[in-house]
Amino acid sequence: MNDKKNYGFTTTILHNDRQKGIEHGSLHKPIHTSVAFGYGDARQLASVFQGKEPGFRYGRQGNPTISALEDKVTKMEQGVGTICFATGMGAIGAVFQALLRAGDHVVSSAFLFGNTNSLWQTTAGQGVDVAFVDATDVANVEAALTPATRIVFVETIANPRTQVADLKRIGELCQARGILYVVDNTMTTPYLFRPKDVGAGLVVNALTKSIGGHGNALGGSLTDTGVYDWNQYPHIYENYKKAAPAQWGLAQIRAKGLRDFGASLAPEAAHHIAVGAETLALRMERTSSNALALARLLEADERVAAVYYPGLATHPQHGISGELFRSYGSLLSFELKDGIDCFDFLNRLKLAIPASNLGDTRTLIIPVAHTIFYEMGPVRRASMGIAESLIRVSVGIEDEVDLLDDFRAALAGC
Ligand SMILES: *Cc1c(COP(=O)(O)O)cnc(C)c1O
Repeated sequence: MNDKKNYGFTTTILHNDRQKGIEHGSLHKPIHTSVAFGYGDARQLASVFQGKEPGFRYGRQGNPTISALEDKVTKMEQGVGTICFATGMGAIGAVFQALLRAGDHVVSSAFLFGNTNSLWQTTAGQGVDVAFVDATDVANVEAALTPATRIVFVETIANPRTQVADLKRIGELCQARGILYVVDNTMTTPYLFRPKDVGAGLVVNALTKSIGGHGNALGGSLTDTGVYDWNQYPHIYENYKKAAPAQWGLAQIRAKGLRDFGASLAPEAAHHIAVGAETLALRMERTSSNALALARLLEADERVAAVYYPGLATHPQHGISGELFRSYGSLLSFELKDGIDCFDFLNRLKLAIPASNLGDTRTLIIPVAHTIFYEMGPVRRASMGIAESLIRVSVGIEDEVDLLDDFRAALAGC
């Protein structure tokens, strides 16, 4: 399949490995477990090391199985290149490690994945100042910019309260100011939304979540969309400026972030994720429609105090979400009315499983303040809009009728 036809999202993923020809006509890219790569000619080894010809050297910096997945993610995001990491946090950590220095300033959405929030607290102690803003309005981002701002960081749909960042306007602002715009696309995935379309320079995906999709492998990725002009970035070392400027960012991240920090994706995990990704579009269609049905059921129930899901007309960013995303995703959260014990409610569910992952095929449910946001404490939780009774649901691909029945029965017991 070497024609240049513009195939759709799923066709492209399914047939991408074959573009480069696979060993023995295998239909899947095989799992390469070798740590080292040998060359018949020692000069060739040297020239691979010096970046003068392509090739693999040592597993920490990549291998053929991981490269095949990187290619797939690049296609999904329509970028110029991707680097995979052991986890989503490995990918986000590499951005900071490779691109930021003491004295730099970052503007970040205040509505963040808990561990990203924790990481930002750490970088503050390392001399990188982070301003947390309500990124649902570009004006807050603009007001927080300083001459030292290097990066603006947002998530598409925030986990767990589902606030949607003012993605397009923030992109315009970053482009006008020459600031690197980093978008964590985990909640939407490249099937629902391509951050490149709103001017993002780097895209984070926690492959662990919907892209892998089966809760059986950890992984993360960073994709360079080609939108950002790395000539504008002040901290690119001369060493990484050998190729065209479009490659500078990833060259530095692969060396300073992946190679030196070592959060390398395992080849077995890369294989699981690549297989999972083949059905990403199908799963996102199903989880989105299940999530909308569940959100509507919860919203109509008198025992429920609030429901947060961008697909509901009552969601503050419902309109903008409809313009930006193909559908509204698999994540929702809700609060039960005062006096209803959320643990008793969770224990009555038979299908939804109390567990902390998301983007799995199975519906997972978690009381946020008592678990994933526990370490943060009540003050910071309140500033992020996390009520003590908030319950997050990562909606799976179960049959809709079974899923709704499960919640109906559990609510009836309240
Ligand atoms: C889970 C998640 C991450 C981190 O991914 P891991 O693979 O668990 O390290 C980052 N961002 C978002 C939005 C996530 O949901």
